[in-house]
Amino acid sequence: MEQAGRDDGGSQLSNQERPVRVRVAPSPTGDPHVGTAYIALFNMCFARKMGGQFILRIEDTDQARSTPESEAAIFRALHWLGLDYDEGPDAGGPHGPYRQSERSAIYAREVKKLLDSGHAYYCFCTAERLAQVKEAQKAAKGQLRYDGHCRPLDRAEAERRVAAGEPFVIRLAVPATGETTFRDRLRGEIKFDNSTIDDQVLLKSDGLPTYHLASVVDDHLMEITHVCRAEEWITSTPKHVLLYDAFGWTAPEFIHMPLLRNADRSKISKRKNPTSLDWYRSQGFLPEALLNFLGLLGYSMPDGREQFTLAEMIDEFSWDRVNTTGPVFDLEKLDWLNGTYIRALSPETFVARLQAENFLPVGATPEKMLAAAPLVQERTKRLSEVADLTAFLWQELPYEPSALLPAKKGQPLHTAAETRQILEQVRTVFSEIAATQTWSAAALEQSARTLAESGDWKPTELFMTLRIAITGRPVSTPLFETMVVLGLEEAMKRLDHAIAKLE
Ligand code: GLU
Repeated sequence: MEQAGRDDGGSQLSNQERPVRVRVAPSPTGDPHVGTAYIALFNMCFARKMGGQFILRIEDTDQARSTPESEAAIFRALHWLGLDYDEGPDAGGPHGPYRQSERSAIYAREVKKLLDSGHAYYCFCTAERLAQVKEAQKAAKGQLRYDGHCRPLDRAEAERRVAAGEPFVIRLAVPATGETTFRDRLRGEIKFDNSTIDDQVLLKSDGLPTYHLASVVDDHLMEITHVCRAEEWITSTPKHVLLYDAFGWTAPEFIHMPLLRNADRSKISKRKNPTSLDWYRSQGFLPEALLNFLGLLGYSMPDGREQFTLAEMIDEFSWDRVNTTGPVFDLEKLDWLNGTYIRALSPETFVARLQAENFLPVGATPEKMLAAAPLVQERTKRLSEVADLTAFLWQELPYEPSALLPAKKGQPLHTAAETRQILEQVRTVFSEIAATQTWSAAALEQSARTLAESGDWKPTELFMTLRIAITGRPVSTPLFETMVVLGLEEAMKRLDHAIAKLE
């Protein structure tokens, strides 16, 4: 067979001689996937490290499943994460269109070259015939593959049938013998026996390309030098290598990243792990924490540290430090990491982030939230928790009067009358403090402690009663600091309510 002539688009230089160009190529079906961000991150780090380009290509040839909403969600999610691409459907660029649905004429043009060179052929087999072949192969316990029925068809005859309107697909003529080899940057040489590779469909009966054809044609014409994608595509790669050979094009370098896995080591799935980037955003994960986490899943820093920024990852980036064992997606670890990032924010930035991502609780103003920030920042793992953690600051939460009575093993330690009495004393002491001193948490705490100790209350018992009175909950932000943030007037009002409940 002769080689298809080279075309005007891609380059024939070796991958080392060309400026680095990499891509992430998601299909816009469903929610934007965390795996897309993971692959985008590694591509982007490599591109930035090498001073190359990072491209977003939308693989929307599955017309039934692709939606514009899903595409828009991919753009939004990648921009939110700061995984900004140099070229893409919404970024433009010299190698567009970057949406495969807009490139049909290109695939038709390219596949014709393969027909001309004898590397591809028309196939008219009906779905029924293909099903029968499959059944027979199953019964014979043989390999399930296309049996090559249409491969010997005369080209002119095939074209007459096409012209007569007969439905057809175009298949790749895979060599019957020999093997196809490629080098994976992380895994070394990988070999496939050609006898195990099916005569792939390249162009479907609807005239649209399959993933294999579109991916190879686009990677070539977009001058992609390195294809870094998930491990699950390894078995597609020999098909792609055969296509590059058939076209007479230089194949890019291949890097197959280990799959993200559920705790049971199965491929990450939404049944066992949240996979939508929108979910992570709606939970209040910071993009820099999520990036750090995704980086950590596939990569280790030279000094082994677990916290690093995108800029640091780019700086140190090398394929040699990419792991090949499937990383387990551990949400608890992400929570921990996110917490460390949240704690490191200045209170002003913390409030700004809450505001920008719509996490400012109802009833909270940025000013009030700023005052409350030191109380909650320490204990926030996700920004979405802030509304709940601070709910009592913006509204008085309901509780049962009995909750005010300190108890041990279900037995009240003080009666309602005793509790009301000490709360009245607290009220008096607090008013005095307010009148004479600055309204500080330490002063409040000291006076409450002295009061408890002068009666037969343990300070912890009184603090629990006060906590319920002020926040309505047995677990809250630090009690006396919370009163300061609430303000004297509101704290007194809540004490009065508690006293009234005990009457
Ligand atoms: N469209 C494929 C995906 O959804 C792209 C695979 C590749 O990078 O070649 O992951």
